Amino acid sequence: MCYKREKKKPPLPYKDFGEIALVTYDLIVVGGGPAGTTCARRAAQLGLEVLVLEKAHHPRRKACGGGITVRVRDALDFDLSPVIEREAYGVRIYSPSGMVIEQSRSESSGFTVRRESFDSFLLKKAQEVGVEVVEGAKVLDVMESSASVIAVTENETYTSRLLVGADGTNSLVGRKTGINTGWRDDEVGLCIEASVPMEFSEISRIVNEKSIIEIYFGPVLYGYAWAFPKKTEFSLGIGVRVSKMQNLKDEWKRFIAGFEERHSIKCDLHDTTAARLPLRGKIRNTCSKRVMLVGDAAGYVAPVTGEGIIYAIKSGKIAAEVANEEIPKGENANVSSYEQRCKNAFNQDLAIAQSLAKILLKSNKNMELACQAAYTDQTLREYVMELVMGIRPYKELRNRILKRLLLKHPLKALKLIP
Ligand SMILES: Cc1cc2nc3c(=O)[nH]c(=O)nc-3n(C[C@H](O)[C@H](O)[C@H](O)COP(=O)(O)OP(=O)(O)OC[C@H]3O[C@@H](n4cnc5c(N)ncnc54)[C@H](O)[C@@H]3O)c2cc1C
Repeated sequence: MCYKREKKKPPLPYKDFGEIALVTYDLIVVGGGPAGTTCARRAAQLGLEVLVLEKAHHPRRKACGGGITVRVRDALDFDLSPVIEREAYGVRIYSPSGMVIEQSRSESSGFTVRRESFDSFLLKKAQEVGVEVVEGAKVLDVMESSASVIAVTENETYTSRLLVGADGTNSLVGRKTGINTGWRDDEVGLCIEASVPMEFSEISRIVNEKSIIEIYFGPVLYGYAWAFPKKTEFSLGIGVRVSKMQNLKDEWKRFIAGFEERHSIKCDLHDTTAARLPLRGKIRNTCSKRVMLVGDAAGYVAPVTGEGIIYAIKSGKIAAEVANEEIPKGENANVSSYEQRCKNAFNQDLAIAQSLAKILLKSNKNMELACQAAYTDQTLREYVMELVMGIRPYKELRNRILKRLLLKHPLKALKLIP
């Protein structure tokens, strides 16, 4: 596909900033993760001059399970197969008491990727349609005036008509612009994640030919642990809401020891890292007049699963479209419609995922009850698999699960549902 590019526009009058402007773009995107690259690609396809400023050099490490749903594949306008590690056909869930619930299906239900290659690939896809990328460019400050925005890195000052903050959970753009000055402890999770190298055949022995993904309830209260298989590595991780955190390091060690014993393996944990992810479940404080926050910077993660890549992609695209509509308005440009559009697109998903997290992850007792019900009930197991793999919208699944619980497991339902 060929995208027609307009000639670079003349510089804006930078009345508020004096003569420091060096480069002029329609849109600066701070951060080259899935949200930033998707936004940049879409904006360039719409004809905008786009610059991505990324502090790291791709391929870069990103703490993540790397589980992506079919919705992610369907939301992108290019083939993802070059970076797919495994197609997953199901899920295996361990209850706090060690009960094992497994459910798979004949069609592929999701995929795993290595974030190093997935994110690099998305960045390349943005460059292919004309996005300019500067790597190793950590943005240190962002300033917004009535007509433009400035992003300051150590070596350069860049200017644009609008700016997108795609710089993840600890967003500098959010803080500097005052759009989102930080997360309360009950709005954010802390994870420990390791990429554990392993032979392909050894991983296949553990996850069987269906390449199922593993979820562990019990190692940590108000969170869960996971084992997501790639070709020659496992993503092992554990995560918890910060306000409920007790001793994550010890819980992590116990989870790893249990994993090693269960599967008769030894894990090489040299590539272990910790990271935060937003679990607010509500959309608010995501834009000013000329700046939009996308992906994790805006808090778009489903609290019950920790799935964020799909919302990074969706919000990136919405931001690009809003930018394209507002830029022609010059000084009157205002991106305030962005937040409402995100609400229309996935507010319900996030809110329901939050309410499910509150019920399911509230206590070991609740996790055990839910697992027991799924253990004995094939239909419920299928719903749970669909929830974990993001196969159906959260609303539909919540309604189906609640109905099934009330009909077939009324006592458990009464204990689970407040
Ligand atoms: C441990 C863990 C496991 C997860 N597992 C999954 C999963 O399996 N599936 C799923 O869907 N989601 C998962 N998530 C959530 C998912 O990783 C995020 O939702 C997703 O990465 C959000 O993409 P993003 O582009 O908004 O942010 P990021 O991927 O965090 O990208 C932000 C980018 O901005 C750059 N940056 C930051 N600050 C600056 C700066 N000042 N200047 C320039 N650049 C900057 C960073 O280097 C980075 O490249 C997980 C999260 C964690 C923490």
